Amino acid sequence: MADNLLVVKGLKQYYAAKGDFGQKAGYVKAVDGVDFEVRRGEVFGIVGESGCGKSTLGKSICKLIEPTEGSILLDGEEISKYTPSQMRPIRKKIQMVFQDPYASLNPRMSVRDIVAEPLIIHGLAKTRQETDAKVIDLLRRVGLDDYHANRYPHEFSGGQRQRIGIARALAVQPQLIIADEPVSALDVSIQSQVLNLMNELKKANNLTYIFVAHDLSVVEHISDRVGVMYLGNFVEVADKYNLYQNPLHPYTRALLSAVPIPDPKAKKDRIILEGSIPSALNPPSGCKFHTRCPQCMERCKTEVPPKYQVGDNHYVYCHLYDTEDAKKEAKKAEEAVVK
Ligand code: SF4
Repeated sequence: MADNLLVVKGLKQYYAAKGDFGQKAGYVKAVDGVDFEVRRGEVFGIVGESGCGKSTLGKSICKLIEPTEGSILLDGEEISKYTPSQMRPIRKKIQMVFQDPYASLNPRMSVRDIVAEPLIIHGLAKTRQETDAKVIDLLRRVGLDDYHANRYPHEFSGGQRQRIGIARALAVQPQLIIADEPVSALDVSIQSQVLNLMNELKKANNLTYIFVAHDLSVVEHISDRVGVMYLGNFVEVADKYNLYQNPLHPYTRALLSAVPIPDPKAKKDRIILEGSIPSALNPPSGCKFHTRCPQCMERCKTEVPPKYQVGDNHYVYCHLYDTEDAKKEAKKAEEAVVK
C-alpha cells in the first residue's frame, strides 16, 4: 500500500451566500465532498479553470479556512477539527507558498525578519546569532545572496520574491508544501527557474508538494500525479503520463485540447466547450459537467457519477466508464502510454 502523507475524505467548503437584500441565498459549494490522498515524496498537481475550487481546497487542507465538513489526515493525525492553537505545532509540517509573492510578504519587514519569523514562532532558533545563520542558509538554498537579508520585498523581482516566500516556507522544515499558483504571476522564463528550484528543494529536503495551478503545462512539468477539478470536485485523477497522454474524462480532454503545442505543423483538434462554468451556488444536478459535456447522456442529468477505476492509477468520475468494455478499452489505451 502506498505510504500516504495526506488523506482527505469528504472535504467540503461551503460559504453562505447572501441575496441582494442581505437575505440567505443558499451555499456556494466551493469544494463539494472531495476525496484524495497524497503519497509521501510525490508532487500532486491540482488543475482546473479559475473558480473550480482548487485554491480553496489548498487553503482548507492547510486550515487557513475552516472546512465545513470532512476529514484531513496529515501524517496519521486527524487535523480537520483542530483549533488554531492545536494547529500551531502542525504548521511546522504543512506550509503554503502563495501566488502573489508581493502580497504575501510584509513590505515593512526586511527579508531577514520575514524568513526569521517562523523560526522564532516555532522556537527553532534560540539566539539572534543562530537565527541569522539559519536565515542566511535558507536564502542560499533558494539561490539568493547573503546581502539580500537586509533588503525589503519591493527591492526584488517577482521571481526573487517567490524565492523569499519559498525560503520562509522551508524555514520550519515542513513535510508538505501546498503551492497555490506559485509561478502564474511570473514571466515564462522565470517560471521555469522557480519550478526547477522547487524540484531541487524537493529532492534535497524530502518534501511532498501539492501544486495548484490553472496552467496544464506547468502542472505537467512538476507533477507525478494530477487531479483535474471541475466545480468543486475531482473529475479525473491519474499519474501524469496517463492523464496527459490518455485523458478519459470529456472535461480533461477539452482542457488538454486547448494547450498549445510547440510544433506549428502539428495539428490538434480543439474541443470547444459550450457556455461557461455554472455557478457553484446552484450547480447542475447529476454530473455537474453535463450542461457542457459533448457526450452527455440522459442519466448524466440526474445521476452523480461515482469514481471508476480504469487503470492502475487512473480514476475517472464519468458514466461513460460504467461498463466493463469501456474500462477494458481505457486500460488498453493506458498500456500504450509512453512513460
Ligand atoms: Fe459527460 Fe455524462 Fe461523463 Fe458527465 S458523466 S462527463 S455528462 S458523459
